Amino acid sequence: MIELTPFITKHYGSLAGLHAFCVALPKAELHAHVNGSISPETMRELVERKKEAKPHLAKFQVPEKLKDITDFFQIFKFIYQLTDDENSIRTVVRAVIDEFAADGVRYLELRSTPRRCEETGTRLVRCFSTTSTNAG
Ligand SMILES: [Zn+2]
Repeated sequence: MIELTPFITKHYGSLAGLHAFCVALPKAELHAHVNGSISPETMRELVERKKEAKPHLAKFQVPEKLKDITDFFQIFKFIYQLTDDENSIRTVVRAVIDEFAADGVRYLELRSTPRRCEETGTRLVRCFSTTSTNAG
């Protein structure tokens, strides 16, 4: 947590002012993974879409924040179940791009390990090319 200092007060007015300044800075994200960048809001949206077909997903508590990297590895199986079809992957990629843009990211290298979902047969590479085409 950042504490308010005389420097911050002088140059940004407040912690909120410093935050707004940092968000407004143009940024480059050179190594972001799709499945590691899904926001809690997008996860909840996908749970809503899928909970009828996969009721066990509704029982999962989407964490708002993670304390460390090991917390993330525990939700990977859940994320794979949320991103097992073309529509969901398209939704996730669009949301991730929009959320990075809202944080001031102007250049984004978004990556994933190409894989095939055994249950649905969806191939991530195909979804990426579909999303890129639709994004213009
Ligand atoms: Zn990596």
